Amino acid sequence: MAIQDELEATDHELIRAGVEWESELYRTATVQFERAADVLELDAEMRVRLREPRRTLTVNFPVRKDDGVVVNFTGYRVQHTLTMGPTKGGLRFAPNVSQGECAALAQWMTWKCALLGLPYGGAKGGVRCDPQLLSAHEIERITRRFTFELIPIIGADRDIPAPDMGTGEREMAWIYDTYSQAVGHSVPQIVTGKPPVLGGTDVRRVATGLGVVYIAEATAERLGQPLREQRVVVQGFGNVGATAAAELHAIGAKVVGVSDQSGGLRADDGLDIPRLQRWVAEHGLLEGCPHGDPIGRTEVLELPCDMLIPAALESQITAENAPRIAAQVVVEGANGPTTPEAEEILASRGVLVVPDVLANAGGVTVSYFEWVQDHQRYTWDFVEVQERLRRQLRAAYSRVVAGAEKLGVDWRTAALTAAVRRVADAGLLRGIHP
Ligand code: NAD
Repeated sequence: MAIQDELEATDHELIRAGVEWESELYRTATVQFERAADVLELDAEMRVRLREPRRTLTVNFPVRKDDGVVVNFTGYRVQHTLTMGPTKGGLRFAPNVSQGECAALAQWMTWKCALLGLPYGGAKGGVRCDPQLLSAHEIERITRRFTFELIPIIGADRDIPAPDMGTGEREMAWIYDTYSQAVGHSVPQIVTGKPPVLGGTDVRRVATGLGVVYIAEATAERLGQPLREQRVVVQGFGNVGATAAAELHAIGAKVVGVSDQSGGLRADDGLDIPRLQRWVAEHGLLEGCPHGDPIGRTEVLELPCDMLIPAALESQITAENAPRIAAQVVVEGANGPTTPEAEEILASRGVLVVPDVLANAGGVTVSYFEWVQDHQRYTWDFVEVQERLRRQLRAAYSRVVAGAEKLGVDWRTAALTAAVRRVADAGLLRGIHP
């Protein structure tokens, strides 16, 4: 059909909003959202208002590589809802970053913040690139130029980026500097996950992994099996996975398998995680590490264990491998690691899934603490931040468990129901402008 005919067509099926962010991950987010919306009996109008992102920015920008060649990179920032306050969410530097992926991740950030009671809407963004193939100078130029491109929509009280896959303190420092140069004075609260000397907090480095362990601990306690007696497998050995594995190892749990993009390692009597961390600090990846038996990066998910922590990528537990997952509990460190089809299979097998919006919310919670401290120009100490994190996560955990029992639903639906209710109420109270 010609474009003009399409525009004139009265059939609204032809004029669909939101095709831009259709993607596998957005499909997963939508299925999960609709389950919560059904429990809440939300009408169709409210569902669309809550589900679809409010604002997306796509940028295409040139960067000079070290060899002098100029290459164009594409970046995105998606702000899911502006109802709850400024938006907040990480920036990814990864080869598969897309608008659809960012839209799903931004939506999950909204639910995560609402569940934890943080005064933010969700956002997410990133640049499609492969950091493994870029030098530090090239990554710096990409980060600074991307920050400059984002200036119209970010701000200390508008939208505050943070680290995610492929980014960390170093990139956050560059974002802070670039933004501050542009506005003419230092604005530490423009970004969280900064190095402590620039107004960051030590706890942010480990916050997400630590939060995963706090939630795993609460879950194990509830099941009457202390965490230190559990056999655990962790997929992903970056910020979230390596921190979680190290913390589990420190409290005495046996980490019997880990993997990263280069492959995995297993040891039935437990891996020496600090040793693996030293190897990765030196060599970059687990590849070639002699301190365990080699295993495939995805195969590791199927190892016999009590608890599985996927902390790498999305869509790792699928309908294909879900029947072979041996763990009784899956604690989602990554965002969206379980597809809706896999979740049904796991539920039918009695496997408990602790959802990402709860399990990995430690990162944004400490980011919030960092932002508050930057606004106040006042620093809390490590112990205070850690204690506040534990308290806030435990409170959210209790809300999820109580909601699941009251409504007779799984933990993800309970978490999303509480979060969606909060944002729906806020939307109704604020009304529609004009
Ligand atoms: P990261 O870049 O520090 O680490 C990612 C890890 O996953 C690396 O070890 C990488 O080698 C590994 N990996 C990549 N592809 C893999 C594959 N196919 N199989 C196995 N391992 C693979 O990223 P991160 O910050 O640790 O983020 C991991 C996940 O946690 C993402 O889903 C992210 O959105 C989520 N998350 C991160 C934070 C945070 O504070 N960093 C907060 C909340 C959620």
